[in-house]
Amino acid sequence: MSRADNRAFKSDKRRFIRQIAGHPLDTALIEVGTSLVGHRHARVFADATGDACRSASGMKCMACAQTFTNMRPMAAVLLACSSVRPSFASSSGICLACWRPDDLSEIEIAATRVLRKVIPNGEFEPLPVHDTS
Ligand SMILES: [Zn+2]
Repeated sequence: MSRADNRAFKSDKRRFIRQIAGHPLDTALIEVGTSLVGHRHARVFADATGDACRSASGMKCMACAQTFTNMRPMAAVLLACSSVRPSFASSSGICLACWRPDDLSEIEIAATRVLRKVIPNGEFEPLPVHDTS
């Protein structure tokens, strides 16, 4: 991650923490390429997913901490936004090797670790997987 990317990441994190202060989080686990049409946070989640995919080469998988590459592409994204003021969402990618939608136990552990960076000691509901079928 370049110095400018690192500054942008820290700025985004501060902005996100300011927005969610005192409000519950809405989270979603979305497979890359899934349509968000009809989702209540479609716009902010689509923006965050697009940002995550465009900057994937500078990001690491939230489960295995390996850098995304063409051989280790991003397969899903954990999204979180304020349930009250959802104008911005955070995103964390999950690589294809770690993505197991039929068994989310490892992803749940990684998601709790990621979300506790913004809500220390937070307890989180099981991740809702966005399904358009
Ligand atoms: Zn991974």
